[in-house]
Amino acid sequence: MTKPYDRQLEEEKVFKDPVHRYIHVRDELIWDLIGTKEFQRLRRVRQLGTTYVTFHGAEHTRFNHSLGVYEITRRILEEFKGRPHWDDSERLLALSAALLHDVGHGPFSHSFEKVFDTDHEEWTREIILGETEINQVLLRVSTDFPQAVADVIEKTYSNKLVTSIISSQIDADRMDYLQRDAYYTGVSYGHFDMERILRVMRPMEDQVVIKQSGMHAVEDYIMSRYQMYWQVYFHPVTRSAEVILSKIFKRAKELYESDYIFKHAPHHFYSFFHGKGSLNDYLRLDEAITLYYFQIWQEEEDRILSDLCVRFLNRRLFKYVEFNPNQRMNDWPKLQELFRQADLNPDYYLVVDSSSDLPYDFYRPGEEEERLPIHLIIPSGKLRELSRESDVVEAISGKKRTDHKLYFPLDYLEDEREHKDVKQKIRALLNV
Ligand code: CA
Repeated sequence: MTKPYDRQLEEEKVFKDPVHRYIHVRDELIWDLIGTKEFQRLRRVRQLGTTYVTFHGAEHTRFNHSLGVYEITRRILEEFKGRPHWDDSERLLALSAALLHDVGHGPFSHSFEKVFDTDHEEWTREIILGETEINQVLLRVSTDFPQAVADVIEKTYSNKLVTSIISSQIDADRMDYLQRDAYYTGVSYGHFDMERILRVMRPMEDQVVIKQSGMHAVEDYIMSRYQMYWQVYFHPVTRSAEVILSKIFKRAKELYESDYIFKHAPHHFYSFFHGKGSLNDYLRLDEAITLYYFQIWQEEEDRILSDLCVRFLNRRLFKYVEFNPNQRMNDWPKLQELFRQADLNPDYYLVVDSSSDLPYDFYRPGEEEERLPIHLIIPSGKLRELSRESDVVEAISGKKRTDHKLYFPLDYLEDEREHKDVKQKIRALLNV
């Protein structure tokens, strides 16, 4: 048997972190992964996309978050060391997967993926397995190590315990982003006692479980998730910026497909307009390059593209009203027609956004196979599903709350210099 790869740095490296205070790196492999250009690229991708238009502090990046998930995983494994069910030879695998789990995220992933029909999980896989610096570093451990890291991230790895540390209902990923997003947005939700949770986590055959005595700390964590979803992640103003962003990508793609001549040709996006795009092209994208195009597209001849870019950059967002398309079937074609009469293309300026389109995952036990419920381990050694023990969790479990909002440029509709009558009709119909 070959000796497991465990080269240590001569001196521990320490990152200062506002959420976890310090992030500790002792493994040479982890240090070298952080130094790859694919990982460094995450410094140029914000963690919360367009949330900064709502909460101006939310400028933190996927780089910060990835380091945080690594640090929490490192601490969980310190607690697991020497306990039954945990095999410490999986340590480096879990740490690498934690660090790299978001490496495939691109600029403003949510909108980008929707318009260009790609998926950050696929890119993560390609970055880990393809011709990249990350792949080279991982290969030092063994020829099958990159594949194992990809499998953990994709939740297909044979040892489900390893997967559940990074991805489950209570995992290192969520524990980091809830606290980090709360810290950077400045909201007062999102806080819970992670130290306590780390002390009551126990490894079992195929999952991490929680000692029953830690139930109240977990309740707090579930509540903070619930509140963060509605107060931060689904914030209607953020969604307005997201709507405009998607429409910019959509317009640019459509113009390209109709042979429009751009003043400033979007070379960086060509391969995505065509299809999936190559890994190299994808790695060249970040928010800096994306915002560069938005900046110069403000001067494009195409009125829709330039207007949307002006709106996005200067935060002239769309306003919204509650609007359930299922209940207002008759108004919808009428609105579209009125928008056309007011010289607004409804494909770009009249948008229904439903929050259930977004990843909505506060506690709902058993909804998807891979979303294992949280199990408490009671003193007899038996497992009990959390919502059966906790009234607080039971009260918010399994309740799907969807909200529908209609987004449109109210500033334009209020400008009565042109199309006065039709704009008044629209405002009456929307009650604004
Ligand atoms: Ca993540």
